[in-house]
Amino acid sequence: MAKSKAVPDNEKVAIVTGGAQGIGLEIGKELLAMGMTVVAVDIKDEALAEAASEAGSDKFHTRTLDVTDAAGMEKLVGDVVEQHGRLDVMVNNAGITRDNILVMMNDDEWDAVIRVNLTSAFYGTREAAKVMMRQRCGSIVNMSSFSGLEGNRGQGNYAASKAGMIGMSKSAAKELAKRSVRVNCVCPGFIQTAMTDAVPDEAKQMAMQQIPMQRMGQPGDIATAVGFLASEASSYITGQTLSVDGGMHM
Ligand code: NAD
Repeated sequence: MAKSKAVPDNEKVAIVTGGAQGIGLEIGKELLAMGMTVVAVDIKDEALAEAASEAGSDKFHTRTLDVTDAAGMEKLVGDVVEQHGRLDVMVNNAGITRDNILVMMNDDEWDAVIRVNLTSAFYGTREAAKVMMRQRCGSIVNMSSFSGLEGNRGQGNYAASKAGMIGMSKSAAKELAKRSVRVNCVCPGFIQTAMTDAVPDEAKQMAMQQIPMQRMGQPGDIATAVGFLASEASSYITGQTLSVDGGMHM
């Protein structure tokens, strides 16, 4: 039997991409509250500095990085292992939208979303997996979306990136399971953040009608689900896609 060499949750080291605001910041704070050392990674300098002061802990570290930079991602993971000795949790959460209906969508809108959402998650998964395989433990959580499960008008690029994350994550889960490295996806529904603040009111009303629980989710709703998948409480769960969406996808 493959033996996991997992450490207790409060000794774990985690990276959270897109960790300066919104869902990513809440995930960082959740993992911190579980006792983990957290490295929040984001392209936004100032937001990262604000996140660090909000987290208010010397176990909360920040790193400015564009996650579409493959060499930068490799260096990030190498530096984290050098500074903190290990890497137990990798949350690939950075994401963008460039909404447009498919017949109007230009190549830049397509490419940007695929690169930031999907290719960066591949880089993060690949680099984290190399370390975690050697450690014989680790949890990778990839932030997908309701759109990736069901498609969404005006989000062909985004839905493709998020569906791609699910396929990649399941493949990685199968490849890494025997080394006790787990890979799961979380699919948020409609969560109150800067990303959804930008959605026009009419589209918001339509989205609300699809939520059986009749309310938008909060970043904390996603963070607790990620905390579970990052923890030893989920040590026998891999290759899964967990919807956190008030019942939108059943
Ligand atoms: P957000 O826009 O508030 O946060 C996204 C973060 O990612 C930002 O801090 C941004 O600076 C960072 N980021 C973007 N591009 C980057 C890059 N190239 N390199 C590094 N960092 C980069 O959005 P959010 O709502 O918190 O979304 C977080 C994740 O959850 C995303 O992957 C998003 O697709 C997913 N999601 C959100 C919702 C929702 O309703 N808010 C629903 C489903 C999925």
